[in-house]
Amino acid sequence: MNIHEYQAKEIMNQFGVVNPKGEVATTPEQAEAIARSLGTNSLVVKSQIHAGGRGKGTFTNGFKGGVHLCKTASQARDITAQMLGQTLVTHQTGPEGRLVRKVLVSESVDIARELYFAIVMDRTLSAPVIIASTEGGMDIETVAAQSPEKIIREPIHPTLGIQPWQTRKLAKKLGFGSSDMRGACRMFASLYKLFMANDCSMVEINPLVQTKGGEVLALDAKFNFDENALFRHPEIQTMRDVEEEDPREVEAAKYNLNYIGLTGNIACMVNGAGLAMATMDIIKHYGGEPANFLDVGGGATESQVTEAFKILVADPNVKAILVNIFGGIMKCDIIAQGVINAYRTLERKEQRLVPLVVRLEGTNVEQGKELLKNSGLPLLAADDLADAARKVVNAVK
Ligand code: GDP
Ligand code: MG
Repeated sequence: MNIHEYQAKEIMNQFGVVNPKGEVATTPEQAEAIARSLGTNSLVVKSQIHAGGRGKGTFTNGFKGGVHLCKTASQARDITAQMLGQTLVTHQTGPEGRLVRKVLVSESVDIARELYFAIVMDRTLSAPVIIASTEGGMDIETVAAQSPEKIIREPIHPTLGIQPWQTRKLAKKLGFGSSDMRGACRMFASLYKLFMANDCSMVEINPLVQTKGGEVLALDAKFNFDENALFRHPEIQTMRDVEEEDPREVEAAKYNLNYIGLTGNIACMVNGAGLAMATMDIIKHYGGEPANFLDVGGGATESQVTEAFKILVADPNVKAILVNIFGGIMKCDIIAQGVINAYRTLERKEQRLVPLVVRLEGTNVEQGKELLKNSGLPLLAADDLADAARKVVNAVK
């Protein structure tokens, strides 16, 4: 789960991570009031969306930049008016962009250096790792590709935690001198504490800045949380902004379905994550493009299957559906009944229906096939995975 920068600031404040003072606004008047209360003539207005690259982004109305420096409260108001309700396109949003509903109005700082600092989970090491670079403020993927020697990696022992020698080593490599070493070390240690305490899967500060006065501040923040640990953090759950999420995934989450939206036109309904991956692979092998990953799980109920099917059909990109079930704990007749129910409901609502290819195997397969056959549903039965993939790819052609 992602959160907005203004929300990340609240968490940073709790953990003593120094960052510029600022508040969120949803109207130009609010932005003006916040700017005034900050009592400075050095301000910045930042679009709040769940995507980076805002600084270099462009609004579809032609307004350039999702991050703007300004000097007065009335300028902050005018900039906010240009941003709110507009769609911002950055290299991370895709061409469709993101609607800006909120802005952060904050004091602006005098930057001497922009650094990159992140903490992520390294699956190979089974430990958190700090990734840092003196080349901050820009796209870290570009730095990694063009000058990999400028990327610093520091793994942290998960039970020992970050050690003082590690923060000093990092500070040194990032070019901090003896006078500002202390602030930098404190910043790294606080960010690590924040990362662990909140079950983050990523904390990215880009840029982490050193001001002309020598202060070290987190100027931008992108946090990502491990969804499996969210139950431990009710206060973070309240920060969820479903308007920033894929509506198909929001709907699927309501029914506890493992769904990930993709951009193809063949919807998949599969049980088991491995089989779901294999199904997507074989669709691609026969020249098709999956519209989603969907694992209905081992113990899905008939109503979960019905809801899953509705989500697949509701996606306007979907031109055909492939149901691929290997019945084990999940019984084929349950799946069949779920599919039939969903199909009937949609028929009654006169919703658009698309070709349906079904491959069933395993527990209660005969009952499942019988149900489907007697249902009169216009479906294509498949014998095996390859046959199913060929049929569904043909159906969308
Ligand atoms: P992003 O483009 O979405 O990553 O948004 P950032 O918050 O990182 O801002 C982009 C860039 O705007 C930064 O790399 C800075 O160069 C600049 N910027 C952001 N805030 C300030 C500020 O307070 N003062 C100055 N001088 N520049 C800023
Ligand atoms: Mg940034």
